[in-house]
Amino acid sequence: MEKILVSACLLGKPVRYDGGDKAVASEILAVWQAQGRVIGLCPEVEAGLPVPRPPAEIERGGSADAVLAGRAQVVEDNGRDISDAFVAGARRALVTAQRHACRYALLTDGSPSCGSSFIYDGSFTGVRRDGIGVVTALLRQNGIEVFSQDQIGDLAKRVEANT
Ligand code: SF4
Repeated sequence: MEKILVSACLLGKPVRYDGGDKAVASEILAVWQAQGRVIGLCPEVEAGLPVPRPPAEIERGGSADAVLAGRAQVVEDNGRDISDAFVAGARRALVTAQRHACRYALLTDGSPSCGSSFIYDGSFTGVRRDGIGVVTALLRQNGIEVFSQDQIGDLAKRVEANT
């Protein structure tokens, strides 16, 4: 049965930087969970970061691919370079996805790890920009399709068409 990697915070786990979650009320997700298809994971917690933790953003002008290549940083709002932990979390997510032969992931948009259509611009002022997170970038580099929580319906069609 097709397994799907899912951001733990979408499953209601209180693992976000602020100690909260991003639980989605989705019948599709509930069915997948009951079927044992869902592999929940928080890459940042997997990398050993605490809850709560300082907010982090990819630096201004930087991309997730550049972070993975060591050419841009993920920084906390206090200026600390936290790139190594974010890259480690992305690698843990990839290893987990590959162990379960996941071809699809459902990740939380907006996150410097899990974002898939937008992230924040590095100014810590709540300004969004087009972009993806470090986990999304690494998964996509390895052929895993990433959907946001707003695309569960599209993901369900994809899964159905390929199983
Ligand atoms: Fe959720 Fe991903 Fe952030 Fe973890 S790293 S709290 S799974 S968005």
